[in-house]
Amino acid sequence: MTQEHQNKSGFETRAIHAGYEPDVMTGAVIPPIYATSTYKQDGVGGMRGGYEYSRSANPTRTALEGVIAALEGGERGFAFASGLAAEDTLVRALCRPGDHVVIPDDAYGGTFRLFDKVEQVWGLAHSPAPVSDVAAVTAAIRPGETRIVWVETPTNPLLNIGDIEALANVAHDAGALLVVDNTFASPYLQQPLGLGADIVVHSTTKYCGGHSDVVGGALVVSDLDMAEKVAFHQNSMGAVAGPFDAFLTHRGLKTLGVRMDRHCDNAEKVVAFLEDHPKVADVIYPGLAAHPGHDVAKRQMKRFGGIVSFRVTGGEQHALDVCAKAEVFTLGESLGGVESLIEHPGRMTHASVAGTDLEVPADLIRLSVGIETADDLLADLDRALA
Ligand SMILES: *Cc1c(COP(=O)(O)O)cnc(C)c1O
Repeated sequence: MTQEHQNKSGFETRAIHAGYEPDVMTGAVIPPIYATSTYKQDGVGGMRGGYEYSRSANPTRTALEGVIAALEGGERGFAFASGLAAEDTLVRALCRPGDHVVIPDDAYGGTFRLFDKVEQVWGLAHSPAPVSDVAAVTAAIRPGETRIVWVETPTNPLLNIGDIEALANVAHDAGALLVVDNTFASPYLQQPLGLGADIVVHSTTKYCGGHSDVVGGALVVSDLDMAEKVAFHQNSMGAVAGPFDAFLTHRGLKTLGVRMDRHCDNAEKVVAFLEDHPKVADVIYPGLAAHPGHDVAKRQMKRFGGIVSFRVTGGEQHALDVCAKAEVFTLGESLGGVESLIEHPGRMTHASVAGTDLEVPADLIRLSVGIETADDLLADLDRALA
């Protein structure tokens, strides 16, 4: 698809056609898995299409990078071996020892560990602030030192909402960049670059891949100088997505729109069911008018996503029992795949923050609502709660 045609196309059309033209030689409609490390040169330096060595570029990865950039409305995309590999590459491309980063006070655990246990050793300081409180984020910025304001929205597992536009203004006023981890929303529901963010980060392991069969990460940027920096670090650090992984993630992205709509449909039904259930004390979902971030979420998201958290009436043991009794909801970490997952954040994904300010309630359950038949999901929850 030509660039001009691509810019005018709808989301689903871009998801299926952007970033790849049917193979010139064979007409292959889908980018083949180019399982090759190197490329024959037509005379010294005579590279075909710029391909020289697969750390630097591989056609399967190029196709994925093109489509993710098109879906986020950015100029360039970069695919990595994991979300955390993407994050580390970005941080080292942008920050130097002595710099400072503001991170969400409920950041994804792996992101917090990366800043706290890895980047800090290399002289990068960080301060946590609640993404839902623009004034608190502003107060956490150290003018002249803060290089990045890092935001997740919605956050995990309490689904707090950050106002991307307001946070971009605050970051830019202080000479910092706004990075948005868009993993929970996916580009179908939210496109941070259009709201003023400078860089979008993904764990493509989740909704982008969407089938729980591959680990991967991505960065998307609008600014071409920034793209050059990221490209240099991607090649220099080498944490790239391999061709098999890139193929799977690319295949997943083609159906992102239809999957997300079904995730949202099912999540809305689950929310309505839980709200009426006598053994449920509280339902947390940005689509609920009572959610403190509802208005902001409504402004910046197309719909409210597939993650639902709730608290049960019977305390921690009750929550553990529900997790154990669910059958259609598989007990497991991660999220964003076609299958529904259930987990107990306090004992599983968020066990490492027990006893800190980031501790989550012991009676909390997190659902990643999949795309199975909705009635089966409701019946399963009813049985598990009984
Ligand atoms: C999973 C996740 C990550 C980390 O990605 P990996 O692919 O597991 O390295 C980062 N941010 C969020 C919000 C995530 O859910």
